[in-house]
Order: sequence, then C-alpha cells, then structure tokens
Amino acid sequence: MSFDPAVIAVPGVRTLKAYQPGKSAEELERELGLSGIIELASNENPRNAGQSVWDAVTESLPALSRYPDGGGYKLKNALADQLNVSSNQITLGNGSNDVLELVARAFVQPKQGVVVSEHSFAVYSLVAKSIGAELRVVPAVDWGHDLDGMKNMVDPNTRIIFIANPNNPTGTWVSESSLTTFLDSISENVLVVVDEAYFEYVEEELYPDGVGLLERYPNLVVTRTFSKIHGLAGLRVGYSVSSSKIAEIIDRVRQPFNVNVVGYSAAIAALRNENFILESRTLNRNQMKRICNGLNKIGLSWIPSVGNFVTVDVGRKADSIFQHMLKNGVIVRPIENYGMPNHIRVTVGLEEENDGALLALHSALLER
Ligand code: PMP
Repeated sequence: MSFDPAVIAVPGVRTLKAYQPGKSAEELERELGLSGIIELASNENPRNAGQSVWDAVTESLPALSRYPDGGGYKLKNALADQLNVSSNQITLGNGSNDVLELVARAFVQPKQGVVVSEHSFAVYSLVAKSIGAELRVVPAVDWGHDLDGMKNMVDPNTRIIFIANPNNPTGTWVSESSLTTFLDSISENVLVVVDEAYFEYVEEELYPDGVGLLERYPNLVVTRTFSKIHGLAGLRVGYSVSSSKIAEIIDRVRQPFNVNVVGYSAAIAALRNENFILESRTLNRNQMKRICNGLNKIGLSWIPSVGNFVTVDVGRKADSIFQHMLKNGVIVRPIENYGMPNHIRVTVGLEEENDGALLALHSALLER
C-alpha cells in the first residue's frame, strides 16, 4: 500500500505542479451556496458568442456520432484566407495550449534549453519541465519580457524561446521593432514561439502582427486562439501559424482528432463575425478604463495592460483579498504562482461585473 507512483513518473513530472485554473463559478456556488457569481478569473470574453455561432453549433449536432475532420480542412482554409497564408502553414489545436505543447514535444529533447520570461504564461514552463528540458527563466523588466536578457540566455543547447505578446498575467507587450531586432539576433536553429492569444484586443500602433513576420523568419511560430475575443473558451480551439515545414513536423505529434466537430463549426462562424470582434474590443477598451479609474479611486496601482485583464498590486499578500472577494461572490485570480504574491489579476468583464468586483475589492481592503 505504500507504493508511490511518483517514483516511477518521468523525472520532469516528478516534481511538477499541475496548472492551476481559475476557480469556476460553479465550484464557488457549490461551496458557498451563492448565486450570481462574478467570474473574472480566466480572461474569457464576458459576452457569449453571437447567434451565428449558436446556429453553427446547432447545425453541427447531427454529426456528433462521427469523428471530426482530422485535417481541419474548412477551418484551416477559413483561417488561411483571413490571414493571407497557405492552409498548410496552420496547425489546429484543442486550444492554443495544445499547440504550445505540441511544438515543445516535437522540437525539445530532455536537457535541451527552453527560454521564457519571468511572470510569463505558466504553460511554457510546465511543458518544458514535463519534457525534462532545461528551463531558463529570464528576469522581467517592468513586468515585461526583457528581450535582450532573453537573447543572452540563448546558447547552442536552446531549442525554443517563448514570448507572450501580450503577456499573461502582466498585460505587457513588445513592439514590432524590438521583436524584429530580437528575431534578427536569434539563430534559425532556435524556434521562437510568439503567443498572441490576446492579439485581437491590442490597439497599440507599434504592436506587431506576428503572422506578417513569418516570411522573414523561418524559425517563427505564432499561436492564436478562439478562447479570448471570439468567446469560445469552452470549445477549445486554437492554432499556430508557421512555415509549412514546421507545421508538418508539429503535425507528426498531434492527436488525429484534437479539434472537435462543434468547435470547428463554431470557430468558422466566429471568424466571420467581425462585428462581434469589434464590439468586444470596444467593450474591453471602455471597461478597462472604468476598472483602472476605479482602482485609482481606491488608491491601488496596476500594471498597464493591452489585454482583456489587468493585474493589480493590492499592497499586501493577495490571498486574503482573494478569499474575501470570493466570499462576496467575486472570483479573480491570485498570481502568487507567477512570482507575484501581492497582485491579483482581474479579467475585464461587463460593466456591472467590473463594478461588483471593484466594490468587493474595496471592501476586502477595508477589512483588517
Ligand atoms: N496563451 C496565453 C498567453 C494565455 O493567457 C492563454 C489562456 N489563458 C493561452 C495561451 C491558452 O489559451 P487556449 O488554450 O484557451 O487557447
């Protein structure tokens, strides 16, 4: 009975901590018997996908007994048209998470190097560690990626550099000129994965479109997702765009049916719904302002963010604040696991959700 399966787990997994998802409203409802929970913990779009997506979902239902199209023909073509690339440059995934993992599995051996930034998206280091890669974490500068520092960490053993642009959980971003200067300095034998999960939210003029850089940089992989502005986090559809040669290699380790029938239909409809994207971006812009103004009034500082979330310095260990907000039916994300014990990350929600969150945050701060 004393058998400990950790002893036979692969070395990288032995000491690994599983990814911590945000608490769900359902879980909190169960625990506290509350209803009307405000859920601002996982950077989803607070608006549900539009009618055309619902219709597409309904239309896909008669096909549920069949396996999906393993090649993703229709969705790849729709994306290729929109992004002005060839469909064989696209890899589809069960969320972009899946693709991030596939890239690492296809290109990194145990003990080879993976370079990431401090305070950047947890999945990169999780995947690197599980492979048994040598993970190099480069200290952040002003909460963002220090691309010079990352460049200096690259050596002949390095296989992948992950750059989140914008970064989760800090909302920082790198400009086109700093990204291209960086890419110019990196050997073609090192893959640079630029994670653009929040791409569609960003309105900065100097923000780069990674897909537009693919022709110049054969070692570049850009990942995007339907989970954020498209409002389909629950269906798990994401993708990467790269050279067709890289895509062909990633495809070798992909599960044949990693995107499901409903996800395909919904994603194609969501891609066509330009209004939904525009409205969601406008809502995010206005509500981000509202939240930041509210935080200023409470006297809290926050990290300027170009995503659909903002990370707030609560000036003390954030866990008690998080717990207090939970009791008031508001779920945000404590980010101690990102090396930020005094911060919480708040997803931009609908106006009434944001106001509720600000109220709960203020009341948590007053409680001592
Ligand atoms: N990259 C970043 C930076 C993210 O914040 C997230 C989601 N939290 C993802 C990738 C993965 O999202 P998904 O798997 O839903 O596409």
